[in-house]
Amino acid sequence: MSTSPAAVFDRLSDPNPPTDTPVLFGTAIVIGSSVAGLLAARVLADHAETVIVIERDDPGTSSEPRAGAPQGNQIHVLLPGGLRQLERWFPGFAEQALADGARPAPASIRHNYVDGVRKVSGSQAMMITGSRPFQEAQMRRHTLALPNVKAIIGRATGVQFDGDAVTGVRVQTDGAETVERADFVVDAMGRSSRLSEWLEQGGWQRPAIRRMTVDLNYATAAFRRNGDGLDVNALLAVRSPELSADVAGVAISQIERDRWLVMAGGYAQHRPGRTTEDLITLCRTEFPPEFGQVVSNEVVEDVRTYRHADSRRRDFHLLQRMPARLVAVGDAVASFNPIYGQGMSSATLHASCLSEFLRSRPDLSKPARGFFELQKVVVDAAWSISTGADLALPHVDGPYPRFYKVLQWINGQITAASVHDSDICRRFDEVTFMLKHPSTLASPAVLLRSILVNLRAKKKA
Ligand SMILES: Cc1cc2nc3c(=O)[nH]c(=O)nc-3n(C[C@H](O)[C@H](O)[C@H](O)COP(=O)(O)OP(=O)(O)OC[C@H]3O[C@@H](n4cnc5c(N)ncnc54)[C@H](O)[C@@H]3O)c2cc1C
Repeated sequence: MSTSPAAVFDRLSDPNPPTDTPVLFGTAIVIGSSVAGLLAARVLADHAETVIVIERDDPGTSSEPRAGAPQGNQIHVLLPGGLRQLERWFPGFAEQALADGARPAPASIRHNYVDGVRKVSGSQAMMITGSRPFQEAQMRRHTLALPNVKAIIGRATGVQFDGDAVTGVRVQTDGAETVERADFVVDAMGRSSRLSEWLEQGGWQRPAIRRMTVDLNYATAAFRRNGDGLDVNALLAVRSPELSADVAGVAISQIERDRWLVMAGGYAQHRPGRTTEDLITLCRTEFPPEFGQVVSNEVVEDVRTYRHADSRRRDFHLLQRMPARLVAVGDAVASFNPIYGQGMSSATLHASCLSEFLRSRPDLSKPARGFFELQKVVVDAAWSISTGADLALPHVDGPYPRFYKVLQWINGQITAASVHDSDICRRFDEVTFMLKHPSTLASPAVLLRSILVNLRAKKKA
């Protein structure tokens, strides 16, 4: 079996549900029932007699934002790589979501602009759009419908160890603390996960954490969608840092209940769209007419803002000592600049890592190193896209990878060519949509074609 990162990524992106799924343990516990936790629970349902999902919020069946996932009121794009995995784990996912109100977003009605120039059409991969709480509620419904998955509302306060393995989770419910016994535990507590502290308290190492400044300011408002005559679902306009210091971009998408979500983003001290009036003026005066048309509709929800400080990853794969029967998924391992929309799709691929690991019938008395090695491929891929682009921002000052200047020049050529050339745009989309590994772009043929495309575009200008 090939072990190149691109080959591993392809394997993890398999659209087909696995067939050989051995039951390996009695009870598996997932801490956190957001996107990553729900997907991990789905996979564990194949390998455990019982799966318990512990969540401190009581989301019920609601599609409303909740305290434990405060980012829920901001625009959330589900990339095609993530949708493909959701179809794998919940066959019929898109059809059900569309029946419940998600909006179809085929390539023909997605319009992308870079510095005011409309990009050519690239990947034809299907997308669907909906608010973040709506998408999460869809995943919750599918996962909790599985006969061996049950939910506990409570706050996990620690993990229990016995010898070299994790054996349970301490949970606080209604003021009382109990211990839920477990044969396997998954941390899906998001970017503020307490697992590192719990490991340290138990006498284990904590994973090193790497950070890169993002300092991103989001502002999202909702508008009514009816009668504006726009035959478009998703609009995205980004601005290069050299051309615009104040607004990084504006993204718009249709969501359930006949609404548009409109988001403006800016870095560091720039906070575009801080009020609904600001956002409307910005869309009307600084972006193509479609943006202005969307915000001419009735305002349904005023602007809500969100500040995202950094991209961060916890390097579990580097730990010398770690207990057996324990893994971490989703933002608890790596969370990125949200502007690239990678978080939910990464979480679906972490679920694939868990499935491949458990299907390999691992020795469960040892740490889950095989899992963390697979997950590293997914995290590295997303991290390289997100931090690679962010290093070009004036307020970001590293850490720079080796050969940064050369890599930046190559990225710049391919990114610029993707605006004008369909073939390059398709390949570029496949990587940014998390359908393919970034190394698939690193070929001399792609670079040469990009240089020629850019030279031609320069001559025309
Ligand atoms: C502003 C913003 C915009 C974003 N936009 C996008 C986008 O466009 N596309 C995209 O794919 N991703 C986006 N993301 C990222 C996305 O929100 C996350 O990657 C995704 O939700 C997966 O997160 P998670 O499930 O790992 O963690 P979270 O969603 O953070 O969930 C963690 C869960 O754990 C629970 N929890 C925590 N501690 C405990 C405890 N002790 N006991 C019990 N439960 C606990 C919390 O209540 C919560 O439910 C965005 C993020 C932000 C901040």
